[in-house]
Amino acid sequence: MPKPIDFEIGDILELRKPHPCGGHTWTVIRLGADIGIRCHECGRKVLMPRSELEKRVKKRIPAPSVEETT
Ligand SMILES: [Zn+2]
Repeated sequence: MPKPIDFEIGDILELRKPHPCGGHTWTVIRLGADIGIRCHECGRKVLMPRSELEKRVKKRIPAPSVEETT
């Protein structure tokens, strides 16, 4: 079984398929049953079921840690 991905707000995601605009990278902007992501190239927002998104993610770059600033 594939490991669930631990998405966080601010994560950068690289998807297997590029957006029609040509963008490959997205930022996580909303968490829940559906995950909201925003395309870096065109700024479009997309909501996707978590399971669907996990299948499409090629690479996850964790958000810069906010804990370090405290
Ligand atoms: Zn786009």
